[in-house]
Amino acid sequence: MKQINHWIGGASVPGGSGRAGVVYNPATGEQAAEVAFASIDEVDRAVAVAAGAFPAWRATSLARRAEIMFKLRELVDRHRADIAKLVTAEHGKVHSDAVGEVSRGLENIEFACGVPHLMKGGYSEQASGGVDVYSIRQPLGVVTGVTPFNFPAMVPMWMFANAIACGNTFVLKPSEKDPSVTNFVAELLHEAGLPDGVYNVVHGDKVAVDRLLEHPDIAAVSFVGSTPIARYIYETGTRNGKRVQALGGAKNHMVVLPDADVDMAADAAVSAAFGSAGERCMAISVVVAVGGVGDLLVDAIKSRMPAIKVGAGDEPGNEMGPLITREHRDKVAGYVEAGESAGAKVVVDGRDLLTRPGFFMGVTLLDHVTADMTCYRDEIFGPVLSVVRVDTYAEALELINANPYANGTAIFTRDGGAARQFQFDVQVGMVGINVPIPVPVSYYSFGGWKGSLFGDQHMYGPEGINFYTKAKVVTSRWPDPSTSTVDLGFPQNR
Ligand code: NAD
Repeated sequence: MKQINHWIGGASVPGGSGRAGVVYNPATGEQAAEVAFASIDEVDRAVAVAAGAFPAWRATSLARRAEIMFKLRELVDRHRADIAKLVTAEHGKVHSDAVGEVSRGLENIEFACGVPHLMKGGYSEQASGGVDVYSIRQPLGVVTGVTPFNFPAMVPMWMFANAIACGNTFVLKPSEKDPSVTNFVAELLHEAGLPDGVYNVVHGDKVAVDRLLEHPDIAAVSFVGSTPIARYIYETGTRNGKRVQALGGAKNHMVVLPDADVDMAADAAVSAAFGSAGERCMAISVVVAVGGVGDLLVDAIKSRMPAIKVGAGDEPGNEMGPLITREHRDKVAGYVEAGESAGAKVVVDGRDLLTRPGFFMGVTLLDHVTADMTCYRDEIFGPVLSVVRVDTYAEALELINANPYANGTAIFTRDGGAARQFQFDVQVGMVGINVPIPVPVSYYSFGGWKGSLFGDQHMYGPEGINFYTKAKVVTSRWPDPSTSTVDLGFPQNR
């Protein structure tokens, strides 16, 4: 059986806690590997190694840090397909989708290559007579990332690229469900010339995460995962004096106005709802059909669904793979049942695939869903698209703004004025205009509002640089000592 070890101090370290987790191949339902679960001592060892590496890494020139990022960029680019294969083997998503994930992660490494520019401060000459004032940004120390199963390559790259480039050292606790890819990336970082101890991986569960949250040498925590855990991470981490950004779950609505091109809207809804089997935090899970567009739109979505090829992610031609675990798949199917009993109409039923080996469920469309149903209220995180029908734009907006999640949303229309009004009105962190999955490019930052993000800095991009650095402002003068006097007044500038 394949054993997945920790990565500490630039080397693979077998687990010694006696505890381990099962990693599945979701396409077959069989165990693919065993992953070590770190004990408190093992976490402490990784943090100690990272803390030991910090002074020298912090003192390493910006030019050298950028050079390592450029080398990593080349290595990840060369190994896109290898990384994607590891993702598919343990996550289940189809190869083309996994390659897409690697590409979007790579953008963050490319952004971090610009760290000499990104860490520039400001300088004000002659702020007062002979006095100059300038600002610098310095790294925090040892920072940690705790990541979800659904983007095992990309989400760690959202975090460690900027964290390391800024001069921090890093301890990653990836998802225990698909952990192999992070070890492979650790090897690439090593090959790129990153000094040992700057990037470490501890695998595990709550035991490891809780230790990281309370460890006195951890300065900051980046988290991506479900909302209840994000809230817990934020509350525990900040209580322990750490800087925390904790991104949570989502319920993303796509509004289709009566003037929208119905075929284009249907293509977008199907792609964004069922890509990666709906296991994306930016997946569209609710279509809000406004005015008379509902019947046409439901027909157009329904007509596209039989063509979607569901199967193992490593078989060419398949477009949608299995779900991550059997338990999760059954939970997703349960939402369809609950929706049906509450009065929703099951237009396309994907439950016929539940009998296949592996953790498959087919694409499912629910119509006439209302806001009180659990299939609307909860994040399903599976291939289930709900349609809510409303009469007006105002009702659509009210529905979205009342939702406790606020990660992404989209509007489909030919009316620029309506789209601009939506962008102005909607209480959501990331908005798409005729774009169903508006994940920002790496030189903007990613983050939702309300229950989709706890903390005040969004992830990656400029806010990522802010998150992983602290500002220092220096006031400096070099006067002629002979002019020096005692003056107890508060310093004046004019
Ligand atoms: P999860 O919250 O179950 O797990 C995320 C991480 O937290 C894992 O590393 C896990 O080991 C750890 N964890 C789980 N339970 C814990 C506990 N009780 N105490 C401490 N640590 C714990 O999430 P998941 O199922 O891996 O990922 C799917 C979720 O992530 C979905 O809700 C999805 O919307 C969300 N997500 C959000 C974003 C975003 O950017 N907002 C991106 C990707 C995924």
